[in-house]
Amino acid sequence: MATKGKEMPLESALAPAADRVAHLNARYRNHAAQAVLERALGDAQVGRVALVSSFGAESVVLLHMLSVIDRSTPVLFIDTRMLFEETLTYQADVAATLGLTDVRTIRARPEALAAHDPDGVLHRSDTDACCALRKVEPLERALAHFDAWITGRKRFQGGRRAVLDFFENEDDRRIKVNPLAHWRPEDVQDYIVNNRLPRHPLVARGFPSIGCAPCTSRVAAGENPRAGRWRDQDKDECGIHFVNGRAVRGPQPAPQEEPEMNVIVTDRGFAPDDWTQGFHRPETLGEATGNGVLALDLPSDADPCDLADHLGRVTMIRVDFPSFADGRGFTLARRLRLMGFKGRLRARGHVIADQYAMARRAGFDEIEIAPDLARRQPEAQWRRRSAWQAHDYQSRLRGLA
Ligand code: SF4
Repeated sequence: MATKGKEMPLESALAPAADRVAHLNARYRNHAAQAVLERALGDAQVGRVALVSSFGAESVVLLHMLSVIDRSTPVLFIDTRMLFEETLTYQADVAATLGLTDVRTIRARPEALAAHDPDGVLHRSDTDACCALRKVEPLERALAHFDAWITGRKRFQGGRRAVLDFFENEDDRRIKVNPLAHWRPEDVQDYIVNNRLPRHPLVARGFPSIGCAPCTSRVAAGENPRAGRWRDQDKDECGIHFVNGRAVRGPQPAPQEEPEMNVIVTDRGFAPDDWTQGFHRPETLGEATGNGVLALDLPSDADPCDLADHLGRVTMIRVDFPSFADGRGFTLARRLRLMGFKGRLRARGHVIADQYAMARRAGFDEIEIAPDLARRQPEAQWRRRSAWQAHDYQSRLRGLA
């Protein structure tokens, strides 16, 4: 058993971080986020590990996973003394709700603040120096006790994060673990909704990414969620994510490749996704304005009766299929059609070609599948099912085939 987050001497010297990172990425390449986190907490090659959390907009996902696996794992919270009051309240609430027993608040030394930023205005003239003083140095001190730390960074956040792996070599000194590297924004929202987790109150007020109050602004619809961080400055990281011991600056490395789009399957075969509007979750539908272009993302266990008052203004509904063995989405589609929903109905997720006819009979117009499923089940396989009505004896009886 590994030493996990406890600050105990390792039983044996660890191999160089680069070797361990290569090994860990190969070993856990096909694991899901929660499994990566669980293994990272127990794998001797990772060593002593802590979660570093800002208790920001999406932090609750990893904190919840951690609380399920081992709530005594150290959690390092950097209080720059420049945070929103809402963040401090949220931090205390989340830690109590999840029962986290080892949250450590990390702050700059008072003498360092007195020497370099006595009036608390350094951020106005030099954000790099301010971050170094209030975040980088305190965290570096705290991490001296650990061999690895867990972050909530994700590829979709773009910039230097677009090529993240689960495990990273931090300057040959430590390993960074990024269990959510491959998650999409919808995955984060689904996890929060499905686990009924408390949201940071500023999210609803237009802050999808939350840092220090002086350096975080509201984000407009359509902007990158991190656009409100150090707005109008050549800065997109606080400096706690290093390359060769320094905060990374300058041109961003290009992603290795364009992210692949999901594939839409229709009776005519494969097509790219032509739906350019965003999707609402059911709980935000009441806030949505406008008619005729609203789109809705539904979990497979949604109750369509909850949507009865809104269906007339919804153009598109996308139903999630977490597993091909989960048939609830078909029932949901059938009920939506019986309730009179005439808009576009899409099944998204783990639907396989053999289920195409069933999906069409249930009322779906199309299916959205991930690129890797499209590779495993190429277009020809789906097209063999495209004449689905010919195989539907009920349709033949009704003269529809
Ligand atoms: S985010 Fe702004 S206020 Fe916070 S430490 Fe960095 S520069 Fe200072």
